[in-house]
Amino acid sequence: MAKIMDMETKIGRRFEGKVAIVTASTQGIGFAIAERLGLEGASVVISSRKQKNVDEAVEKLKNKGLEVFGVVCHVSNAQHRKDLIQKTVDKYGKIDVIVSNAAVNPSVDPLLRTLESILDKLWEINVKATVLLLQEAAPHLQKGSSIVIISSIAGYNPQPAMAMYGVTKTALLGLTKALATEMAPVTRVNAVAPGFVPTNFAAYITKDEGVAANEEKTLLGRLGTPKDMAAAAAFLASDDACYITGETLIVAGGLPSRL
Ligand code: NAP
Repeated sequence: MAKIMDMETKIGRRFEGKVAIVTASTQGIGFAIAERLGLEGASVVISSRKQKNVDEAVEKLKNKGLEVFGVVCHVSNAQHRKDLIQKTVDKYGKIDVIVSNAAVNPSVDPLLRTLESILDKLWEINVKATVLLLQEAAPHLQKGSSIVIISSIAGYNPQPAMAMYGVTKTALLGLTKALATEMAPVTRVNAVAPGFVPTNFAAYITKDEGVAANEEKTLLGRLGTPKDMAAAAAFLASDDACYITGETLIVAGGLPSRL
């Protein structure tokens, strides 16, 4: 793996006084985004399906001196979504940033042999839950607020073995445009499309010869890190991106995507 520049990232304080919710944020990319927003001054609301994971993630960030609050939220559960928004508003009084990061990839079957129940689950968690969460959040979103949706490089070219997952990520590119139109000018909506990031979700990347093979596909000669994704998400969520909406930022080390 090519050496990552070992320099201390200079982190600003772009989210001072802001309140940020990150879904699926007890590990991996979501956790890194929550940490980054917290380090930049946000009050951060951590969430995922399991109370134990939420507690542990909250503890880790509190130990770094960050202002953090945890709420259990399985994104396809209506009551959980309601709780996530209501408890955030009860505690912090407003919402400035929502990062919609949860996704599943429950099957490696070819499309023509994927069960209807799996197709429904992919749609429900990877696409529909973002819309429903934003319906819940909309009345509380501040002027100048920002949504970041986590799509994937797979959205540009759905690969066999994760084709329907890729298609849901393609849908998020369209969803980003549609929400940006509907929510302007109060709220900006953008997306990040990560490349290969070795997390639990993408364990296949590190299987067998996976690391070297996937590194070679990138122009920068390395896999992505959750912190790489967090830097991009924080940029889009911040006022540095105040004239950007409806866009998707590919953070994939130069993996082929589009011209
Ligand atoms: P990860 O490290 O495996 O983390 C997944 C997180 O999601 C955990 O905190 C998990 O906690 C939570 N979670 C899972 N299902 C959930 C649900 N239904 N509702 C709420 N929380 C849920 O995964 P990751 O790689 O960071 O993936 C994050 C996002 O990046 C996903 O949208 C994925 O599609 C996207 N992405 C990843 C890669 C990659 O190479 N890693 C590439 C492109 C895009 P609990 O178990 O407690 O729920």
